[in-house]
Amino acid sequence: MKILLVSNFEGGFQPMTVAAATTPLLKAGFDVSVLDTYVDGIQEDRFVGQDLVAISIPLFDALFAGIEIARLVREKNPSAHITFFGQYATINAYRLAGKYSDSCVVGEFETPLLALARHLSGDTQLMLPGLVTTEVIEKGETIHPYMGRDEIHIPTRSTLPPLHKYPQAQVDKLMGSTQIVGTTEIARGCHHKCLYCSVFAAYDGKVFLIEEDVVIEDVRQLVKGGMTHLTFIDADFFNSKHHGVKILRRLHEEFPELTYDFTLRIDHILENKEILLEMAGLNVAFVTSALEFPSEEVLDAVAKYTSLEDIEEAIAFLLGTGIKLNPTFIMFNPWISLEDLATFRAFVERNNLDDIIDPIQYETRLHLYKGSPLLNTASVQALELTEQEFHVDWKHPDPRVDELYYASLTPQEEGIFKRCCLKC
Ligand code: SF4
Repeated sequence: MKILLVSNFEGGFQPMTVAAATTPLLKAGFDVSVLDTYVDGIQEDRFVGQDLVAISIPLFDALFAGIEIARLVREKNPSAHITFFGQYATINAYRLAGKYSDSCVVGEFETPLLALARHLSGDTQLMLPGLVTTEVIEKGETIHPYMGRDEIHIPTRSTLPPLHKYPQAQVDKLMGSTQIVGTTEIARGCHHKCLYCSVFAAYDGKVFLIEEDVVIEDVRQLVKGGMTHLTFIDADFFNSKHHGVKILRRLHEEFPELTYDFTLRIDHILENKEILLEMAGLNVAFVTSALEFPSEEVLDAVAKYTSLEDIEEAIAFLLGTGIKLNPTFIMFNPWISLEDLATFRAFVERNNLDDIIDPIQYETRLHLYKGSPLLNTASVQALELTEQEFHVDWKHPDPRVDELYYASLTPQEEGIFKRCCLKC
């Protein structure tokens, strides 16, 4: 039984989703190989002779390329079973399975992928948890996301392209030198329920911890691979802060030169000042925080449960710790006015953020995925909306705001969603 795991984009990082999916399949004795088209291109010959091709789509930016890969696999190898997995597979399973693939994993992917591989190997009596198949769709059944708290294995990194193939300009800028960046996670999901967020859509407030020893062992192999800086790709590192501190202490003892960054909510920064001061001493170099937009109306509209005052307090606090801030925004959103864009400029200048903001942040636009809770809110329902296959396009009530947005894009970028965090 030959299995090909394909990644096309994981935020420009070495794809940890396929690394995590590989281990249980290898342990069960399957012949597994990996293709990351982001760095190695679409090698169509690799699709031939595979029994199962599983395409990872953890981010919105991976969705359309993933569909194109599925089309090419079908062309080159019509008998292969094609499936999708990852966060955007969970959100779009019923739009993908049957049309672009034979099945789609919903929820945590390791156990459903293993069950699918065993099923395709002949164990047809096996239950297929968390798997939306063509048959399921034909019968009109509903499959709940698989959220079993199974063992999470150490990701297999030996089958992935080396870390140096994944340069990270924003990390280099914040660190002031070129880094070899690796990623890992201490938990999956998020306890919070920000209305626009795809993590909320996929996990509904649930969080799964990854065992301390698994994280440490994964970091050891990343360091062996040349990593000098580690980005924790958790939706919010303080979803499990005590777990995180324990891991950072152990890592700092074993790798005193290694530096770190992770994502944090503004309220978590303010509630955990002592812990952050300790973390500064453990080489946490910067934190990414989704500031959304410096306006109470926007913060309320997305249910962020923070205020402009909190944001400015958190920025000032971090300044005194030595931990830098990597702010992200949803720059173009339906709740701003043209004047707010000028206010934004003043906010950036007042807080000395201009030099550290990733330029891509000036082009981010609210993404309304199908099923987003925002679509049920009065302020979004009042917009001119156009339904697309996987998302809903919206127009700003003031056409001048949209004109500014489109003017900020180069032609090839038009229509491409810009990420505001590592998980969207
Ligand atoms: S925006 Fe961040 S804090 Fe809010 S639900 Fe998403 S991952 Fe969690």
